[in-house]
Amino acid sequence: MRFGGATDPLVWGTFHIYRGPNRWYLRDVDVRKDFLPLRKHPSRIRRAAEWAASLVKYTLPGHASDDLLPIFYWSLCVLESGRLREDLAGWRFYWRWLRNWGLAPDLERCQGCGVPLGEALFSEGSFFCAQCSGGRQGLRLSGQDRGELFAVSVLGHERVLAMEGLPGIDPGKAESCTRMLIRTLSDRM
Ligand SMILES: [Zn+2]
Repeated sequence: MRFGGATDPLVWGTFHIYRGPNRWYLRDVDVRKDFLPLRKHPSRIRRAAEWAASLVKYTLPGHASDDLLPIFYWSLCVLESGRLREDLAGWRFYWRWLRNWGLAPDLERCQGCGVPLGEALFSEGSFFCAQCSGGRQGLRLSGQDRGELFAVSVLGHERVLAMEGLPGIDPGKAESCTRMLIRTLSDRM
């Protein structure tokens, strides 16, 4: 165990590498954050592993996706803190990933006609008002549910950690919404 726990999964740090005759070697690691508290919660570590697997699955191999690293890192911090429900931390992670790629659904305005949304239908990765949702299949969200998804998506890190009042959206519904975001990612591949 030359590097101790520094090369464990989810350890963040600066990795110094050097080139030998045939391959690259790791010289040392300056650990910045080890996410040890996260690793004490089985459900949180499972979710972190899912996010990591998505990053591998939905980004190009051998192509640096540095733009996603801060999103992943800060999402792990939210998950570790336990201040946001895990299902909502998941929604937040994928929504911010999609926003980074210009693919996140607009949570405030109808995709069809642009009116400000109250209750809405989440269908094929977009939100629609009652007028535009005729004939579409999807998840129906109350104005409050949609507002909560909006809040946890766009609030900055510190404000999410300080959020007052527990979100009321059903966790199963939030998970279904998140799966729709993941479908947007998989459809791109
Ligand atoms: Zn509309």
